[in-house]
Order: sequence, then C-alpha cells, then structure tokens
Amino acid sequence: MQLVNNESSIKDEIILSIIVPVYNEQEMLPLFHHQLAKVLSTISDDSFEIIYVNDGSTDDSWNVMLNLTSHYAIVECINLSRNFGKEAAMTAGIDSAKGQAVILLDADLQDPPELIPQMLEAWRKGYDVVNMKRSARLGESKFKCWTAHVYYRLLEHLSDVPLQKDVGDFRLLSRRVIEGIKQLSERSRYMKGILSWPGYKQTTISFERPERAAGETKWSFIQLVKLGLSGITAFSVKPLRISTWAGALISASAFIYGLWIVMKTLIFGEVVAGYPSMMLIQLFLGGVQLLAIGILGEYVGRIYAEAKARPIYLIMDKESSIAQDSIIEGTHIENSMVHRHG
Ligand code: UDP
Ligand code: MG
Repeated sequence: MQLVNNESSIKDEIILSIIVPVYNEQEMLPLFHHQLAKVLSTISDDSFEIIYVNDGSTDDSWNVMLNLTSHYAIVECINLSRNFGKEAAMTAGIDSAKGQAVILLDADLQDPPELIPQMLEAWRKGYDVVNMKRSARLGESKFKCWTAHVYYRLLEHLSDVPLQKDVGDFRLLSRRVIEGIKQLSERSRYMKGILSWPGYKQTTISFERPERAAGETKWSFIQLVKLGLSGITAFSVKPLRISTWAGALISASAFIYGLWIVMKTLIFGEVVAGYPSMMLIQLFLGGVQLLAIGILGEYVGRIYAEAKARPIYLIMDKESSIAQDSIIEGTHIENSMVHRHG
C-alpha cells in the first residue's frame, strides 16, 4: 500500500468516483468492499476511485475502511469530525470526487454494485444522470413502503424542481452535473432535490431494492419525518401559499357569515344562543392560525440556519491509498465473511 502523493497526475485519469457514506457499518464494510471491487475488476481499462466517508461512526468503521485496498481503484477515506448525517457525508464525498462520473452508493448493499457497469454504459451513451428507480423494496415494512409512496407523490406536486418518483440517492451523475451541484451551497441539504436540480440529460434504470445485508437502518421514524419536512420546505414555498389561500378563504366565509348574523339579528332580534357553533369556530380558527404560524416558523428556521452559513461538514482526517503489493483482493474480507456466517 502506498500513499498517493501526486494527486494532480491522477486527476485527469479518474473515470468514475464511487461515493459511500458510512455510519456504523463495521460489519458491512468488508463485505461491501469485496463486492464492489469484484464488480470493478470486471470493467477493464478504466480508473476508479472509491471514496468512503466516515460520518462520525461510533464503532470501528474508520479503522476497517483504512484497511480496505483494491487493485482496481484508489481508495480514499474521509473522516468527518462527527456525525453530520448522510446528506452532509455525501456532500463531503461529492466535493472531493475527481471522476468524470460519480455514483452514490449505500454501504449496506441495498444499492447493488452489480448495476454499475449498466450505469456506466448509459453514461457513455451521453446521459448526464442515470436515475436508479426502485421497482420494489424488499424487506422493508409495508408501512415504510406506503409512506414513501405517498410522500414521493406529495413532494412531486409541491416541489418546484422536477423530482423523480421512487429514486433515492443511488444515481450516476456526470462531471457537469456535479459542478452544478457544487454551486448549491445551502445548509438544509435535501439531497434528492439537490441532485435533481441541475437537470441535463436523464435516463432511468429500474431495479429491485434488496434487503440490507447486515446491521440495521440508521433512520428512525422521527428522522424520516424530519427529512421529509426538510424536503418539502427546501424545494417548495407552496405550503406558505396554501396557508395564504386558507386564510383568504376563511376570512371570506367569516365575512359572509358575519353579514348573515347581522341581518338575522336585525330581522329576528337577538336570542342568546349558539355557544356550540361559537366554540367550534373559535377552535377551528385557532387551529388554522397555529398551523399557519408553524409553517411560517419552518421557513424562518431555515432562513436562520442559512444566515448562519456554517460549514456543512468538517473533515478530521483524509487518507488515500492504492494497492501495490500482490495481496489478493480483500484477504481479510474472506475471513470476515467466514466469521459472519459462523
Ligand atoms: N448513513 C450516514 N450517516 C447517517 C446515517 C446513515 O452516512 O447519519 C449512511 C449509512 O451508513 C448507509 C447509508 O447512509 O451507507 C444509508 O443508511 P441506511 O441504510 O441506514 O438507510 P436506509 O437504507 O434504511 O434508508
Ligand atoms: Mg439501507
């Protein structure tokens, strides 16, 4: 193994950068790397770069990734100073990617590396973006599939940017798309929106999303709700407009109802009654107002975060290596596989 000193000489040669955000994946990494290296070895005469971004793992992921080598790729390991979240980790990877094309991959083999040759082929045909569409999600709960389905459709209606349904972060992006994305320096990083924003020539490949090969999902339901909300607020101001419309509609009906009450009192006189309807209307109006203020607050919160303009991530260590000796690809990987299967 040798440290790469002269990065600029490699710069022009790298065809594909593969970015892998990693958070507590120590058991997954060797297996993942083995699979990925195997796929890369089947694609000849191209130079590759695998960028592992350790997103502040609390397990041994960092040391595990430092030991991963490949004869077919430069392996770059980036250690973020703490857990910044998958979106920030992917941004760190994108910022240091040198390839002419970039693929974002999850470390849990839910984005099968076997599809990489197909993605490269589409890129060679001249497409800038190869979207990987999930035709099925294996091993995920009915509830998660259903909420994802509803959410993607809702977002599609709300968003100002054309988003692809059922396409996650797993995609290939050409150099000019990456350069476009780098100009989006916003703090609230909803990657599915950011990756779709540049546009360019797109194509879609469908695949069945397999189950996570080991470990467990890093997202809790609450985190998914937060991510979902940030997706909507980051790419649409329609909720604000909806509250304006709701306000206008309610004011108009209140005015008409007011007229009716005045007329009724003038004609029939006042009979003190109507407590239930009064209560109902008050509660309803209170609810609508709070909701509208809440929506407003979501956007004000984003403005606050953007105004602070903090960096999206901080890098603690960065190491890159190319395999030079004749160690068989991933020797320790075989061991760990044996270990995994008892
Ligand atoms: N991940 C990350 N930082 C986080 C959470 C997740 O880098 O804070 C990585 C994780 O290691 C994996 C990818 O993001 O490579 C997807 O995570 P996960 O499989 O938990 O998400 P899911 O597939 O359930 O949506
Ligand atoms: Mg996963």
